Amino acid sequence: MSDDKAIEFRNVSRTFPVKQDNLIGEVKAVDNVSLEIHNGEFFSLLGPSGSGKTTSLRMIAGFDRPTSGQILLYGQDVSNLPPYERDVNTVFQDYALFPHMTVGENVGYGLMIKKIARSEREKRVDEMLDLVQLLGFSGRKPAQLSGGQRQRVALARALINHPKVLLLDEPLGALDLKLRQQMQIELKAIQKRVGITFIFVTHDQEEALTMSDRIAVFNQGRIEQIGSPAEIYEHPLTQFVAGFVGVSNLISGDTARRITGSDVQFSIRPEKIHLDAMDGRPDPETFSAEGKVRDVIYLGLYTRYLVDLNGGGDLVVVEQNLKTTSMDVMKAKGQNVRLSWKKEHASYLGG
Ligand code: ADP
Ligand code: MG
Repeated sequence: MSDDKAIEFRNVSRTFPVKQDNLIGEVKAVDNVSLEIHNGEFFSLLGPSGSGKTTSLRMIAGFDRPTSGQILLYGQDVSNLPPYERDVNTVFQDYALFPHMTVGENVGYGLMIKKIARSEREKRVDEMLDLVQLLGFSGRKPAQLSGGQRQRVALARALINHPKVLLLDEPLGALDLKLRQQMQIELKAIQKRVGITFIFVTHDQEEALTMSDRIAVFNQGRIEQIGSPAEIYEHPLTQFVAGFVGVSNLISGDTARRITGSDVQFSIRPEKIHLDAMDGRPDPETFSAEGKVRDVIYLGLYTRYLVDLNGGGDLVVVEQNLKTTSMDVMKAKGQNVRLSWKKEHASYLGG
């Protein structure tokens, strides 16, 4: 990965006026965001609905302008440039294909606008269709394609002009789960092949973890954390990130003090916790807590245990069903157990 900065946000805010009960107020869609995205990176904006992801993307594309702050594209301040003067392209969730045009015409549209000769155009359209595995579909109309195929056409159309940055706003949202998972792998492979910076918007944490080099987690217009999937998952810095990305136990107050000796809030992932019988002594290298299994939920691949801690609080634990059957795991219900986890697996939270 080159160290070039593809995109930089410098204290970017975007407010919208809103009318409520005849009063004019404002909503801070994006609230003082600063970030840097490297050239060639697969970078995801992850967050719940309404957290400012689309507004951020639209400001990169030039469909919207910051109320304050600056956006730089490869070092150039583009805050006031119109969309067509920015070397970026966008893929939307609803594909926005031209229904009356064939696949080939849709993909070649950008080249036609640029008045590229037909022979050159056809060659490049074929290259793009090959890239998205749709060679031979050139003569079809969008209505004759599946959802996944339409998505690929939209991708080919967006990539044919070799933009420096491709913006994707929940592009897989309309696909069913299996196809979505397949497209996640494909999209990532295509990004690697073309080497273009991808900025990918999603509210799906698993999708972001699967595809991204780095992720920015958005909450209410602000960035809570930026990091690699492993950093975000293993070391969430705030309560919001711990809860939004994966499942986490949040422990604070007296319960935290009993376990760690301090009441600083921490999170611990359910799969990092070992569940053992009460015999023997706890390993001093671990944090541990004792309790009673309140509930056992068998989920095929793994089992989820809900444990009431002695002295208050509860923890969720998941264990893979490597050697256990559903009958075995059910026996745990009502048992006294010791829970333990490596100290480094606890993540201390600031926010
Ligand atoms: P996301 O893509 O993360 O779901 P958006 O960026 O679309 O979030 O929206 C962020 C916030 O800004 C939301 O509260 C949304 O209602 C508000 N918003 C977005 N666009 C407009 C607009 N054109 N006018 C008024 N409010 C808007
Ligand atoms: Mg959105």
